[in-house]
Amino acid sequence: MAKRSYTKTLMREQAAEIRSHNFEEVALGYSLEEGQQEAARCLQCKQAPCITKCPVMIDIPSFIKAIEENEMGQAQKILSRYTNLPAICGRVCPQEKQCELACRLGRSKKFEPVAIGKLERLVADWALEQPFEVNRSSADKGRVAIVGSGPSGLTTAGDLAKLGYDVTIYEALHEPGGVLTYGIPEFRLPKKIVKKEIDRIVGQGVKIETNVVVGKTITMEEIMDNYDACYLSVGAGAPKFQGIEGTSLSGVYSSSEYLTRVNLMHGYQFPTYDTPIKKVKNVVVIGGGNVAMDAARSARRLGAENVSIIYRRSLEELPARVEEYHHSVEEGIDYHWLSNPIEYLGDDQGNLKAVKCIRMELGDPDDSGRRRPVSVPNSEFIIEANTAIEAIGQGANKVLLDTFPKVALNQWGYIDADEETCATSIPGIFAGGDIVTGAATVILAMGAGKIAANQIDHYIQMKKQESEVTR
Ligand code: FAD
Ligand code: SF4
Repeated sequence: MAKRSYTKTLMREQAAEIRSHNFEEVALGYSLEEGQQEAARCLQCKQAPCITKCPVMIDIPSFIKAIEENEMGQAQKILSRYTNLPAICGRVCPQEKQCELACRLGRSKKFEPVAIGKLERLVADWALEQPFEVNRSSADKGRVAIVGSGPSGLTTAGDLAKLGYDVTIYEALHEPGGVLTYGIPEFRLPKKIVKKEIDRIVGQGVKIETNVVVGKTITMEEIMDNYDACYLSVGAGAPKFQGIEGTSLSGVYSSSEYLTRVNLMHGYQFPTYDTPIKKVKNVVVIGGGNVAMDAARSARRLGAENVSIIYRRSLEELPARVEEYHHSVEEGIDYHWLSNPIEYLGDDQGNLKAVKCIRMELGDPDDSGRRRPVSVPNSEFIIEANTAIEAIGQGANKVLLDTFPKVALNQWGYIDADEETCATSIPGIFAGGDIVTGAATVILAMGAGKIAANQIDHYIQMKKQESEVTR
């Protein structure tokens, strides 16, 4: 038997000098041989801890075994029992904090964990090239409306369609996918992959109506009159600003606007597409999450010479995925650690020309358990910038919530839904994903979508039984 390798099988990537000038995907995927080599590292644990750390509980050892045995069809069948979006999860899930963190091989100090996410991507990409099989019950079980076509809504829709429900998703934008389409850039998650996985869900019979803003184009009351149940998965896409002086200067963006212009509206292909995006020399991004990385790396690809990230804590507390941080450094993104902007400075035309910042130090832990950043007196400094992008988090989108005050909200303004059932304060209305948790992850939004599909099925079938008894 070949000796087990200590390290993960490397995935080929575009070289940093090349990829920082294009929007094509950075990671190039495993070949089948590379995948089998990696699959052979798995210990096939009987009580596999990786499964319990996966929010949708994929039978990880079994699909990895199937890859090793060159049974790609079987590997795909296993994955499809748990996830409708494996090619997406394989690319963007924070595996290092979930399944791979629990991997027994990785916990043994000497070895790196099995590259579970990269193997999931291998199977999913293979499956997208195979003929599509409809896997839908012919039962006519009822009608369900879903508001929002992000990963949460798509998961619920796919699962309910397989069970035999007539499902319609209403989406405010002109393309489905939520953050997968308008937020995460092409170089991390190619839109053709998102489209192919959505097409497979549509292939199960799900209808998607785009350009429908629920609360404006149609009301929740109309939905409640016409469907047996509804799932609200409208995400947390409302931009937040720090609100410092100079925010109204031209050149100060929210990450939502910047990334939507680039991704959804193809700003990087202007003038072939109509949406312009400022191409400037000096860009700063404020924040330390995946969104900040995406904005900074997009700015670099748009031609900025100097791109830096201003983060008020240190590398140790950086919330972004480790892989994304390393990629950003390779692409020449600079970091101003323990720093915070306090004012945007403009020229006499109202354009941003610089950002005034202050140094920070870490004090006592705050509510999140992380040490609170505190300003260091008299430590101001200036960074030249023609564009500043604030990536400091997003809030609940109010369009639907303001027109549907009946649904109870929690203290943070998100929908108050039961974690175990996704039930809201209104019978028949369920909710999940970022609109319940606040900005989180794709797989957590999908996990809620799976719970909601089960609960909606249960709710509708119970109601049917009750009405038969009383008839
Ligand atoms: P969303 O994806 O936000 O979808 C909600 C959808 O509802 C949207 O399409 C919206 O247009 C629609 N909608 C809103 N209001 C209405 C209405 N009134 N009527 C009709 N439709 C409506 N997570 C990871 O796991 N890994 C990553 O690498 C990662 N990177 C990210 C990068 C960026 C730039 C961003 C912004 C987020 C990232 N995330 C990442 C987080 C992840 O994308 C979200 O947690 C996830 O998309 C939430 O899914 P959702 O279905 O709840 O909502
Ligand atoms: Fe394989 Fe690691 Fe899961 Fe064990 S914990 S089954 S080694 S992936």
